[in-house]
Amino acid sequence: MSAAIMRAGSLTIIGLGPGDPAMLTPQAAAALAAATDLIGYGPYLARVPARPGVVHHATDNRVELDRARHALTLAAAGRIVAVVSSGDAGVFAMASAVFEAIDHGAASWRALDVTVIPGISALLAVAARVGAPLGHDFCAISLSDNLKPWEVVEQRLTAAAGAGFVLALYNPASRARPWQIGRCFALLRAILPGSAPVIFATAVSRLDEVVTVTTLAEADPAMADMRTLVLIGSAATRVIARPGSSPWVYTPRRIAAA
Ligand code: SAH
Repeated sequence: MSAAIMRAGSLTIIGLGPGDPAMLTPQAAAALAAATDLIGYGPYLARVPARPGVVHHATDNRVELDRARHALTLAAAGRIVAVVSSGDAGVFAMASAVFEAIDHGAASWRALDVTVIPGISALLAVAARVGAPLGHDFCAISLSDNLKPWEVVEQRLTAAAGAGFVLALYNPASRARPWQIGRCFALLRAILPGSAPVIFATAVSRLDEVVTVTTLAEADPAMADMRTLVLIGSAATRVIARPGSSPWVYTPRRIAAA
């Protein structure tokens, strides 16, 4: 039996990493090489080199459930399907949509061979770029209110900052959501010291990468767009200034008893 026949009717959910092909794991590369059909948001699919005979199903970013159902339907028809996301597919990305579609979909989809392949999420790539800001407890929050009420975002930001977590903010801004990040800084300035480090990391690991280390007091919301991850240090996070180079940022692993 050929490998293709053995793997027919499979669906693999793949994280492509933050952008640099060197941050695509060998496991993800092997799964991409085995696929007959690739499904994902157009700009992510564009990162996968075309191969003869492989069908690219590019979709809009807002139709995750439709895309997941399409992927499951193709897999059920015997195709070797790969659903691709940037970073890690399980972090604010397609893997949840696939399982939601299975949860509410055809009973036969539960018998499919579904595999999730981890990727390097933006928060890991950004943290590595600046030092070790995630060395102690941290919290990842998406600022998008497309899928949850903004009040929930505010409650979570307030609770997480008050509890001393370093914050990794995904989806801080887009053309359709320009004000959320400014509101977030205003809220956090009432909880954290103005000296708390803030990192704006845009397009990390890509050619147009820009990383800026500033403070909560000086953080300018205009520095964030849809390709930016914003990291906000806790009161324990430290900045090591370096003459002529951008500073290192780290959070010590040990904190004193309260
Ligand atoms: N699954 C992805 C996250 C998708 S949500 C992951 O695990 O990384 C999209 C958000 O991810 C963006 O708004 C941005 O906040 C962040 N992001 C993705 N790639 C990035 C990169 N190369 N540099 C900085 N932030 C990135």
